[in-house]
Amino acid sequence: MSYVDMIPWKTKEMEKIAKIFLTDKKLILLRAPAGIGKTSVAVTYLISMAIMGKRGAIFLRTRKEVEHTLAIIKRIISGKKLDLLILPTPSKHDFCVEKPGVPLIKYWCPASECDRLKRRKYSDVEKVLRSQVFSELNSYVRLMAMGMRCPYHICLELLKKADIIIGTHPYFIHEDLFERLGKLAIIVVDEAHNLVGITTFEGDAKNIEEGKIIAEEAMEKGHAIHKYVVRLWRSGDIDRATILAEYDAYRTEKGVEVRMNGKIIKVYPPIELVKDRIENVSKIILMSSTLYPSKFYEKLFAEGINHRLEVIPGLFKSPKRRIVIMDTELSTAVSMRSQEIYAGYASEIKRLHRKLGEKIIVFCPSYEVAKNIAKHLGKEVKDKPEGEIIITVYRGRIAEGVELPEDYKVAIMAGLPFPKISAKDEKIIEVYSKIYRIDKQSIRQAFLMSSMVSALIQAAGRVGRREQGLVIIIDSRAKSIFGGAL
Ligand code: SF4
Repeated sequence: MSYVDMIPWKTKEMEKIAKIFLTDKKLILLRAPAGIGKTSVAVTYLISMAIMGKRGAIFLRTRKEVEHTLAIIKRIISGKKLDLLILPTPSKHDFCVEKPGVPLIKYWCPASECDRLKRRKYSDVEKVLRSQVFSELNSYVRLMAMGMRCPYHICLELLKKADIIIGTHPYFIHEDLFERLGKLAIIVVDEAHNLVGITTFEGDAKNIEEGKIIAEEAMEKGHAIHKYVVRLWRSGDIDRATILAEYDAYRTEKGVEVRMNGKIIKVYPPIELVKDRIENVSKIILMSSTLYPSKFYEKLFAEGINHRLEVIPGLFKSPKRRIVIMDTELSTAVSMRSQEIYAGYASEIKRLHRKLGEKIIVFCPSYEVAKNIAKHLGKEVKDKPEGEIIITVYRGRIAEGVELPEDYKVAIMAGLPFPKISAKDEKIIEVYSKIYRIDKQSIRQAFLMSSMVSALIQAAGRVGRREQGLVIIIDSRAKSIFGGAL
């Protein structure tokens, strides 16, 4: 009996993924289409390992994804008597119930002398959570706030005892947060493509210089930095406390330091992160639907590490979603943009709307493109799902999460969402170029491609969730870029 048999909605693809998880390698990279059931398999794997006494964690991108994963676990373990402690990681933003109305600097809790900090008993909370999983973070907050306790600190205390942790990416990336989790055997990172381009610190260079002087002052007086932050805050010297806390974050974060327009950033190349984490665990699985181009990610995540790369074909196809690349001369490539092109897109959209007789959502690479296409359709750009035809942008509210009513069954991709490379991206590319010994132009190209594919997959995922959906890509570059990869 395979561990995926625990999943009531198990499919053939999920069985395939389950076998990949069992591969005898310490590092596994998995690319599989969105919606295929990777997260369900991952949490079932963690459950099966936890039953054998091996602690595990899955790290996700957003709070919404954490709640979705908790809901999956709840369904899988429903009716089973398992003595497992399954916990989400807390963020101060969500788990602080005192909401002080000031920036939640490092060491804010002792600095503010929050009364809740004193009440640390958690055995009653642990008992409740060993027999149930909530699918909403607010339910954890309510439970852990009982008896005037601090949900943030109670949750942190409990994390070291948890059998399975459902965390957000920062808990995987930042050393101080990762240490809070205790020793883990298995780590799964979902949406792992987001580990590319990460920085662990961004702050004002002047503040760092000033913070260093305050830190020296603290040392001269014989105080540890964190205690001096608290001291300064309590004495009313809030500005210097904030600057010292920022300096402390700068000092302790990992990464390659880079200066940029009066700022300091710390770039943490993915290979360094993976090497730092893999030392003390039995297995790391990095998975995403967007590890594309996969060889690029293999180099970034696994160079020099014994690993296995698995690709399940299809970038964003699913049994519920058909993908069509239209034969067209139209493109939103910057060199092609003109009123004639925008009018061409508008006319195709009208034609498809008439032909298909369905509500349509149109994703455009920028507000400028969206506004121009909308103008030719006599419409406005929107980030709310209303009307027969919605014109919106990739990476916007609708693309990234607003719930779309099921009657929007068709998504038109009006152009490919290549991003603009920012000054910060250029700095990251420079660091990667040195670390990985690849020329900057090749890294820039791979960055552009992976960001484009990621935004395209995210937007395409808005249709074909429960009802059958259709995605039509209109851009003359699409055929040569994707070939049969879709
Ligand atoms: S101790 Fe908890 S409730 Fe109090 S300020 Fe800190 S995070 Fe907020």
